[in-house]
Amino acid sequence: MSVTRVRGRFAPTPSGRLHLGNALSALLAWLQIRAESGEMILRLEDLDRARCKPAYAAQLLEDMRWLGLDWEEGPDAGGPWAPYEQSLRSERYEEALGILKREGHLYECFCSRADLLSAASAPHGLASEGAGCAGECRRLTEAQKAERAAKKSPALRFAMPDRAFPFADGIAGTVVFPAGAGGDFVVRRADGVIGYQLAVVVDDIAMRVTDVLRGWDLLDSTPRQLALYEALGAAPPRFAHGPLLLGPDGSRLSKRHGSVSLAELREQGLPAERIVGWLAAASGLIEIATDASPRELVAVWRPERVKREAVRLNEDWLAALMPD
Ligand code: GLU
Repeated sequence: MSVTRVRGRFAPTPSGRLHLGNALSALLAWLQIRAESGEMILRLEDLDRARCKPAYAAQLLEDMRWLGLDWEEGPDAGGPWAPYEQSLRSERYEEALGILKREGHLYECFCSRADLLSAASAPHGLASEGAGCAGECRRLTEAQKAERAAKKSPALRFAMPDRAFPFADGIAGTVVFPAGAGGDFVVRRADGVIGYQLAVVVDDIAMRVTDVLRGWDLLDSTPRQLALYEALGAAPPRFAHGPLLLGPDGSRLSKRHGSVSLAELREQGLPAERIVGWLAAASGLIEIATDASPRELVAVWRPERVKREAVRLNEDWLAALMPD
């Protein structure tokens, strides 16, 4: 099937309620695609079975629809590249692992469990993905590997090439991280769970995604993903990273700053248009927060208006999220 239209996706992890920060990424991704009359995919990144719950997934879809966002393909809508839940796509990841292994991109890593546990979730900054292996495992002899494997099953790591992967970001501009930034990363944990970086790339390739717009916390994951595209022989999509929302204290917007989940705001009687207009203003897309539906904002979509830095919201901003 040939793809002529732009295709974007929103790929949330159903491990909690949708909050303003996720809603902003979803809105910006949706606007980018709708402004070009493209197609939107909703993909559930539910690989971390311990954290992801069906109830969160159901709530998430409901919250998105309530906001006025829609998608052509997704767990509810189906589509040509179903399933749209990562937990149901393991054979595709295993297939990609087979290719990477054959081509010599992977090695077994016996580093500690703590390092490897976080790999299934999208990192909020590379540090949160766990310490990289210092590379010792990359150089183990067959005998050393066998000795370690007798005690512990290994994780699989992708060996980052020793060069930079610069890219032109649709919002951030030219982005260059140093060669090997973040180190070799886990593509399959010792317990068999597939790593976020691999799953996201395999799915974006399979689902013919042309444009990825997501939160700034994944900016530094992009070189890793570019290395995976290259290793899998696939053309990468265009990337853009929208701003993170911070509370008045400078930390990521969260419960401690008040009601930040859409479900809560809705329960308090806040109309969806108030939130959408507020998000558009916070991100720099419009100057003054006025109630608006996502549809109404399509005409004002200009990636160059979107802020290139985290948005620190003061108390007035938070207070503006009040029902009439
Ligand atoms: N699932 C990731 C998250 O919840 C987003 C993945 C992506 O957009 O690449 O943060």
